Amino acid sequence: MKFNVLTIFPEIISNYSKESILGRGQKAGTIEIKPINIRDFADDKHNTVDDTPYGGGAGMVMKPDPIYKALKSLDAIPFSKDNGLNKLKKIFTGKLKAKKRTILLSPRGRQFDQRLAEKWSKYGELTFICGRYEGVDQRVTDHMIDEEVSIGNYVLAGGELAALVIIEAVSRLIPDVLGNRDSLLEETFGNHKSSLEISNLKFQIDKEYPQYTKPSDFNGWKVPDVLLSGNHKRIEEWRKKL
Ligand code: SAH
Repeated sequence: MKFNVLTIFPEIISNYSKESILGRGQKAGTIEIKPINIRDFADDKHNTVDDTPYGGGAGMVMKPDPIYKALKSLDAIPFSKDNGLNKLKKIFTGKLKAKKRTILLSPRGRQFDQRLAEKWSKYGELTFICGRYEGVDQRVTDHMIDEEVSIGNYVLAGGELAALVIIEAVSRLIPDVLGNRDSLLEETFGNHKSSLEISNLKFQIDKEYPQYTKPSDFNGWKVPDVLLSGNHKRIEEWRKKL
């Protein structure tokens, strides 16, 4: 699965995704995270990506043209919004096969959640646009993306952290990115369940019961006896009750 991230701070993306599961997933070739510097697509010598808002007001707004060019270079403008010639070209080159999504990070977008992470983990390519300053020219929303997504009801200084949150939530659902944790899951819930069911179930359970590790007694604070009993049926019941 491929993640493209349009940003004016590509190093935020590359530095974070070097580590932990995103780093391992990339080394294994299961995922690819590609930061794209929007400035590379600006057409003046100062690489300008923002300008003052029409109608006045504070701050700067990100220009539509560099974002458009960057998306074009990735072939990431949604099929439904692209012009007819490109639609035909895509049909003939078979590019419709891998499901793609182009997403603008925005505090006013649809709220990202585990269900959306599940859905997107089945896609072939996700392209994120990270805003900065006061936000992004409305024509990006109207003509270049599939949807606007928010990670919560608060305002960040840029879309980079939001993109990383989503990439991490989606990546850990892709088979083989987490390695042995996934095979553990299969053992617990059996192969008869779809991966969606397994993951939803795991999500509910993970959220609900407390986890303990060694030592079993720390400062006199003890791990519940049932967890040390080795009786899987009782443990399962205990976890469900909480
Ligand atoms: N003036 C805008 C905020 C711009 S914040 C407003 O009031 O709505 C600058 C950029 O940060 C946004 O364009 C967006 O890409 C990103 N951002 C801020 N908060 C976010 C959130 N909760 N979820 C996703 N992206 C966010």
